[in-house]
Amino acid sequence: MPHTVIPIANPRPLDFDAALIRKLSQNGPRYTSYPTADRFSEAFGYRDYLQAVAGLRTRGSLKPLSLYLHIPFCESVCYYCACNKIVTKNHDKAVTYLGYLKREIEMQGRLFAGMNQVEQLHLGGGTPTYFTDAQMEELMEHLRRWFQFAPDGTGEYSIEIDPRTVSRERVLSLRRQGFNRVSLGVQDYDPAVQAAVNRIQPEAETQAVIDAAREAGFRSVSIDLIYGLPKQNVFTMAQTIEKVIKADPDRIAIYNYAHMPHLFKPQRRINEADMPSPDERLDMLGLAIRRLEQAGYVYIGMDHFAKPDDDLAVAQRQGRLHRNFQGYSTHADMDLVSCGVSAISAVAATYSQNVKTLDAYYDLIDKNELPVARGIRLGMDDALRRTIIQTLMCHFELSMPSIEQGYPIAFAAYFAPELERLKVLESDGLVTIGPEWLSVTPKGRLLIRNVCMVFDRYLQQAAPAPRGSTSYSRTI
Ligand code: SF4
Repeated sequence: MPHTVIPIANPRPLDFDAALIRKLSQNGPRYTSYPTADRFSEAFGYRDYLQAVAGLRTRGSLKPLSLYLHIPFCESVCYYCACNKIVTKNHDKAVTYLGYLKREIEMQGRLFAGMNQVEQLHLGGGTPTYFTDAQMEELMEHLRRWFQFAPDGTGEYSIEIDPRTVSRERVLSLRRQGFNRVSLGVQDYDPAVQAAVNRIQPEAETQAVIDAAREAGFRSVSIDLIYGLPKQNVFTMAQTIEKVIKADPDRIAIYNYAHMPHLFKPQRRINEADMPSPDERLDMLGLAIRRLEQAGYVYIGMDHFAKPDDDLAVAQRQGRLHRNFQGYSTHADMDLVSCGVSAISAVAATYSQNVKTLDAYYDLIDKNELPVARGIRLGMDDALRRTIIQTLMCHFELSMPSIEQGYPIAFAAYFAPELERLKVLESDGLVTIGPEWLSVTPKGRLLIRNVCMVFDRYLQQAAPAPRGSTSYSRTI
């Protein structure tokens, strides 16, 4: 099938080449971290984390922090879900969890005393709004006791909202509690698709939350969509995208549904006969991209679109976009401190992940230990490759001399095998390799994960991702 360049007033239009995507799409990591979470080891524990924080203190770190809190509860299960969540209508569980979460926050607060400026906060889940308004108030007050938050104009304070769980008053309250960005789970507006994934969410309900967020003065409203769900087709997708454009969010994320029922039990309830074919998925993606770009949205990268005047798009144009566990960010290289079950921190040159079950989490906190289950300390090679992967994901180009300035290597010699592999991608039209710059072409941008995978040493060492890895999905 011939490909078309999408003509829009976008400084970086995508070139949607369906044949190329069909040829090259493969399983790969999303690179919210490098090394990816499936490479973390249980040999890294609580004491290693303490050591990493002690290292920051010795170096007199004054960098602001990013905080992430994981609230794992949901009232009902969406069949496509691959998140770490606990489905229960027993809200007493949230009372207990909040108590332990506050204890973990206090432990982290004490650890970071004197270097506890925060410029970014994200509440994810599960469903953060499973907490009542009063519980959220209690949590935010507690956070302010242990961390110093930058003013509203500087800080980026976001929360994931399930529109089925909040009223207009609740949205106004979240704004008063200090949040200034919201991201709304929508996935698809079509009633048949919603029924097929057990997530009934009338359009009016979603719109009421968007209207309330505008009324409350949230700086940014984001909508999450998924393509590849049962009962979806190009027609339903066209309607959903038109509704999204009409709703006018600042950011849109459109994720590829990764059907892995052997890993995620809820997905076994999806009727596979209702799922769109790979070609239909591609058509849906092509249509979504075309319409979003025509409507003026800019492709940021890795499933994300934003209005040209949104902070993310501006940061990308100015070369100061970053990527971390929460996705794209305008804030540079902050240490990320995460609390809650399964949450992942990134402090100094380490990653560490908390235990995944409530029992293990409560047990360790009762012992006055931070509930770290596993992690990794990055060596020089990891840090170097992380820089390269993050740069490519954010900017679609890489200055080889600038890498040589930051690291004690000669790029061409150190990455000789990678440059050979990149030549294959160059012949496919995904990248161009100059004497100084590696650039991802407009048609390579949708396949950016393929380019990054070239630099992933763990993949090249032919150590397959362990079964059970949740980091890998089709690159498109
Ligand atoms: S998709 Fe979100 S709301 Fe649905 S079960 Fe998963 S975490 Fe809960």
